[in-house]
Order: sequence, then structure tokens, then C-alpha cells
Amino acid sequence: MKPKFVALLCLFSFCSAADTVGYRGDILYFKGDPANDSEATVYIKDGYLIVKDGRVVKSGDYISLKDQPVDNTVDYSGKIITAGFVDTHVHYPQITMISEYGEQLIGWLNTYTFPTEIKYKNHHYASQEAAEFLDQLINNGTTTALVFATSSPVSVDAFFEQALKRNMRMISGKVLMDRNAPAELLDTPQSAYEESKLLIEKWQHKGRLDYAVTPRFAPTSTDQELAVAGRLLKEYPDVYLHTHLAENNQEVEWVKQLFPQSRSYLDVYDKHGLVTKKSIFAHSIHLNDDDFRVLSEKNANIAFCPTSNLFLGSGLFNLDKSREYHIPVGLGTDVGAGTSLSVIQTMDEAYKVTQMRKAFTDKPEEVHSLTPRENLYLATLGGATVLSLQDKIGSLTPGKEADFVVLDPLAGPILSERNKQAKNIDEILFGMEMLGDDRIVAHTYVMGKKMK
Ligand SMILES: [Zn+2]
Repeated sequence: MKPKFVALLCLFSFCSAADTVGYRGDILYFKGDPANDSEATVYIKDGYLIVKDGRVVKSGDYISLKDQPVDNTVDYSGKIITAGFVDTHVHYPQITMISEYGEQLIGWLNTYTFPTEIKYKNHHYASQEAAEFLDQLINNGTTTALVFATSSPVSVDAFFEQALKRNMRMISGKVLMDRNAPAELLDTPQSAYEESKLLIEKWQHKGRLDYAVTPRFAPTSTDQELAVAGRLLKEYPDVYLHTHLAENNQEVEWVKQLFPQSRSYLDVYDKHGLVTKKSIFAHSIHLNDDDFRVLSEKNANIAFCPTSNLFLGSGLFNLDKSREYHIPVGLGTDVGAGTSLSVIQTMDEAYKVTQMRKAFTDKPEEVHSLTPRENLYLATLGGATVLSLQDKIGSLTPGKEADFVVLDPLAGPILSERNKQAKNIDEILFGMEMLGDDRIVAHTYVMGKKMK
């Protein structure tokens, strides 16, 4: 086939995965965390990303690589090619109840969340909502996510079926919840164990899918059920543990009353063996130094969910403290308490949280404002690291799965006017992070396949 003809076909998304395709554009990704490595950023103005069979073959500057054999070149000159976004904490069943008014965590769960989640026992409804959710992730440039389903195994099957269809790298699991919620949503330690086991056998490592044992949070599980979660992690050491931790002061007080023997909220989980290198704790706002030490010693991970934390008035996450203890952190949209599925809008609020922390500390000079590079790192390789997937996704080095996005730094009149004045990549990137949303995501690729 003549190269020009192939190029035309590729524009209409008919390129085969077996083709070798070169993507020309400005390439930006990280080899490490720019917060502690000044050499971590790879930025190639006029770069070339070569992809074959869904994997990155090479990336570098266009002039050096342009003679490499490819079936086709797609020209994204003037746009930025970076790794697909990673959302380390989100609830797919809550997409229909995003932005509900006036409550903090516990009232919000009882008033809005639980009544919504009851609907996900219906496979048809759950499939429809899972499909919409995943399509919206693609629209927003998110290619991997750690996702809450509901306590119904039907909701997990529906989600994984839809993710498998799209060949997306997704992690999810049945919610464990045996108290303090409506009866229609409750399981028992026995049913939680049996249903989770069946789901793990069915979905773990199928395609690009992985399973997470998912107790909702300590207040909705008895000690017996948390012990079941620990047993599942022992029996299946590869699966993840995904839950909420120390989000809201009222919740922390409630945990103290429910688990009087435990030193802290984190200790409730730790007693049952739930703090591991494959554990991801959403929020982690109200922790003390002992908790940070335990998270660090066990190599556990945190999902920082700024739009949710501001929306529910939960508090300001201390990113500096997590760094001090070398705890991996990724960004979570946490929809429906989060107000956007866009990881770009989440970067906007993450920056503002680090700014706001200066207002509530005696030593504002010690609070570090998140830089544009550090923020993009959290959204890509940082998130991948939180999910132990840094060898597979999160950057554009050879061998990585070709999940990537093409961002338009000049999308929309205001961003365009602003970025035309920008003097360097940091200024361009910061403009995109503060002003961008799904409109700057020109294209999303999943394993080399154009999905947007
Ligand atoms: Zn959540």
C-alpha cells in the first residue's frame, strides 16, 4: 500500500494494530518523579513516537527517527503527545449522581449514594452505565483507572465486560459492606468471601484487567468482614486492596467509636493485613505521623482526590508529608463526590489544594506549590506507580503499552491566546492544567488503537 493512501485510511481509524505507525508531535513524559529528579522529564519538541502491535517501539526526535521503517506517519505537529492519564480512585456507579448538593461525607452517602447504587443489581442498567463511564474516560484521555463498582457482583461483571470490549487497562472489584448501609446493599462475611473469590477467578489478569478487593470503608465493614478481605489478599497475592481512609473528621470519629481497640483508622486496616504495596487508600487526609510511617514501611499508596475533597469539604491533603515519607501518590477524580472525570481538571484543583495549605499552616514557606511537571507526573507515571503498573504504562519508553493522548495546547480561544504568549513548556503545561478539560484531549489511544 502506498504510504499516502495508508495515511488517509488511518485518519478514518482504519489502521491495523499490526501496522507500524509513527506519530509526529511534541513528546512529553517522565522517566521518574520530577519532584526529586531534575533529569526525570523527557520533552522532545518535534518528536516521533513509533508504535507497533499496541506497544511503543521507539520515541525520540523526528529528524533522527524519520527514516525508520513505518507503514504510516500521522502528523500531530504543534500538539503534545503524552502518556494516557491514570485515575487512581473513581466510582463508576456514581456517574449519574455527580454534583449533588449540600452534604458532607456521611450525609452524602446516605442521601444520594446508597439509593443510586441499589440500581446496579440490574445487569442491563449496569452495562449501560459502565459503557457510558468508560466512553467518558476515553473522551477525557484516561486510559487506566482503579474503579469502585457496587456490592453487587453483577455491577463488577458489567464493568469488566465493557472494559474488556475496549481493551482498556482497568482494575475493579465488588464492594464489601456488611453494616451501616441499606439492607439491599449489604453482604455478609461469608457471601463477601464467596462472591469475591468467584469474581477474582473470573476476571483477574483477563485481557488487561485486574481485580481489587474493595471494602467500602471501615464503618461499613465488621471486623469479621475485614478479616475476609485479608484472607482474600493472602489467597490471591496479586490482587489489589482498594478502599477509603481518613477522608472526613466526622468519619474518623465514627471509626474510633466502632473500633475502640485500634490505634487509628489506618490501624483498623493494618490489623487485618490490608496495608500492602498493592493497597491504595483514597484521601488519607486526617493521618498522624505514625500512620504515614506505617504506610511508608508497608510501601502502600495514596490516591489524592482534590475535587472531591473540596466539594465535600473534607480537608486539604498533605502532599509534602507523603513525599517526606516516600509514599507513592496518584490523582483520583473520585466521581461522584469528585466533580469531574477529567484528570486535567483534577490537576487544576490539586495545585489549588497545595496553594490553600499555605493559608492553614504556621509555616507557609515550607508548603511546596505543585509544579506543572510534578502535576502531570502524578496524572501519568505517578498514578501508574501507585498501581504497580509503572513497567507497563505511564510513559512512552520502548516496550510500554501504547496508551497515549494527543493534547492541543491551543484548544479554545482563552487557552490559545494565553499559550501563544507562553515562553516554555512549563508555562504551556501550566496553562493546560489550569484551563483545560476534555476539549484539550484531541485524541486518545488505547494499546495503539485510536479511540477518540
Ligand atoms: Zn471514593
